Amino acid sequence: MDTEIITEAEVDSADLILRAVAFAAHKHRDQRRKDKDASPYINHPIQLATVLWEEGGVRDPEVIAAALLHDTLEDTETTWQELRGAFGEEIADVVLEVTDTKWIKKEVRKRLQVARAAHSSDKARLVKLADKICNLRDIAAHPPHGWPLERKQQYFDWAKEVVDQLRGTHPELERRFDEVYTLKP
Ligand code: ZN
Repeated sequence: MDTEIITEAEVDSADLILRAVAFAAHKHRDQRRKDKDASPYINHPIQLATVLWEEGGVRDPEVIAAALLHDTLEDTETTWQELRGAFGEEIADVVLEVTDTKWIKKEVRKRLQVARAAHSSDKARLVKLADKICNLRDIAAHPPHGWPLERKQQYFDWAKEVVDQLRGTHPELERRFDEVYTLKP
C-alpha cells in the first residue's frame, strides 16, 4: 500500500468539504429537482462542486464548499449567521453573493443577477459559472417537466447574459459554458 503523506492543510480541506456536503445534504433533504425523475436536490450542488474540481481544476476548498452550499440560503431555512458559524464569514458571504432575493419579482431578480455578476468576488464568479453550466446541461438533457420551448430558450439566453458579465474569470469553464450553450433548443 502507498503511504502518502497528507499535509495538515489537505486534512483541513477534506474536512471542510465533507462538512459542507453533509450540511447541504441535511438542509436539502426534503427537496427534489424539477426533472421528470424528481432526483434528490443535493445532486445539483454536488454537480457544481464536481464541475469546478474536475473540469475547472479548481482546488480552493472555500470555492468547493461554497458551491456545495450555494442554494442553502435561497432554498432552505438556513441563515447567513448559521453559515458563518459553521463555515466562517468568507464562505457565508460567497453563498450570500450567489443568492437571489426571493421577495423581488422574478423578472427583476433575473435582471439583478445580470447586473450583479460583473461586481462579484472571484469565488462567487466561479460558483455562478459552474451553476449556469450545470443548469443548462440539465435543461438540455432532462428538461424540467412542463417547460415550454420558449421558456427553455429564454433560460439559455439569460444564463448567457449572466456569464457574459463574468468573462475573464476562468477561460476553461467559460469554454464549457459556450459548449453547452450550443445545445440551446
Ligand atoms: Zn444552483
